[in-house]
Amino acid sequence: MKELAQYKDYKRIAVMGGSFNPIHNGHLVAAEVVRQEFGIERVIFIPTGNASHKKSDPMYNEHRYLMTVLATAANPNFEVSRMEIDRAGKSYTIDTIGELRKQCDDDCEIYFITGADAIDEILTWKDPEKLLSMCRFVAVTRPGYDKTRLKATIDTINTKYKGNVEFLEIPALSISSTDVRNRVAVGKTIKYIVPEPVESYILKFGLYGGRPSALKTDDINKKLLAVLTPKRFKHTRGVAQEAVRLAKRYGADTEKAYIAGLLHDCAKCYTDKEKIALCEKYNVPLDDILFKQPDLVHSFLGAALAKAEYGIEDEDIINAIAYHTTGRKDMSLLEKIIYIADYIEPNREAFDGLEEIRKLAYEDIDKAVEFSLENTIGYNVNKKRIIHPLSMEALEYYREGNNEKQ
Ligand code: ATP
Ligand code: MG
Repeated sequence: MKELAQYKDYKRIAVMGGSFNPIHNGHLVAAEVVRQEFGIERVIFIPTGNASHKKSDPMYNEHRYLMTVLATAANPNFEVSRMEIDRAGKSYTIDTIGELRKQCDDDCEIYFITGADAIDEILTWKDPEKLLSMCRFVAVTRPGYDKTRLKATIDTINTKYKGNVEFLEIPALSISSTDVRNRVAVGKTIKYIVPEPVESYILKFGLYGGRPSALKTDDINKKLLAVLTPKRFKHTRGVAQEAVRLAKRYGADTEKAYIAGLLHDCAKCYTDKEKIALCEKYNVPLDDILFKQPDLVHSFLGAALAKAEYGIEDEDIINAIAYHTTGRKDMSLLEKIIYIADYIEPNREAFDGLEEIRKLAYEDIDKAVEFSLENTIGYNVNKKRIIHPLSMEALEYYREGNNEKQ
């Protein structure tokens, strides 16, 4: 096993410093291109701690560090150091280089990679002249920063301050962490701007005010208000809130539960004619049963609309919408939560057995599913409606499962 943070074997290492809030493909391209051009054996990404020149939020330190690990994990020449994150008090580059120096052989060259904007600020860092004597710098081009000016800055630093700064033109990526944060906050995609695991991480933890879906709930609400009747909208919000309560009870993702709840009836208030046209538009197959029982169409159509018109990509959310009326066997936890939340949300008009199911929902969700399926099927049989085979299969499945439990 290779040891971490041991640089004795290396002749050339580089530090890639930054707040990495979050790390993006611009950072990775800069590090990789410098690595190859300068024959560097190891690039050490060092997320800043409490930088003196930049306000940092300690809450985000761990997230920034972990995202940097995720982004660099696949590159055998990259590693990440906690050196600055873990340093008490203010953190300065000169201390970092000093610490690294102790871990290297005397003849090891240490490089520091910076973008065009950062090199501009270098003279404001702590002990700039000493720092410039301790390591080499590579200043890479960055869109939005003038190349000629960058070269002039480098010249000044090298002549006036005896620096060792090199210029390197790299493929232009007009990406910044600020832009990534702004995009996430308004629900814009960051795919191909940050590495995939970083994207998932940001969405998973709701960093930067983001949501697991492409659209923020405010936008979803606005759109729903336009296509649902007031009564249906109220029901929808009730389901979303009940779904969150159930998600908390069973340890499911509350954000997903909220969104699936909000969207479960998004196709409900279109006329039959509109529903058929939308099914054609979005390739939702209409089988015989759906033709005879048009009320069932809204679930499957709703799933397609959630994808196409509300930007939902999460398959679990899509399935929870698709099967919220019929149910199906072996539902995921989220599917069961939406199925039940729809049944018991606080605005539901009272019916026989409602209170019992409300209680059961929080004791044993599988039993609540069986109970609801039984009730729904019974109700529809009385009304002489066709029962969808998915519901019959589901009832059988949960009945067997629950019997086995006892
Ligand atoms: P913020 O917008 O929060 O300032 P940032 O995108 O500038 O974030 P930092 O973590 O501040 O990222 O940058 C770390 C280092 O990477 C800096 O030296 C910066 O100049 C360089 N850098 C960042 N993005 C790019 C890019 N797209 N191209 C080249 N260099 C970059
Ligand atoms: Mg910056």
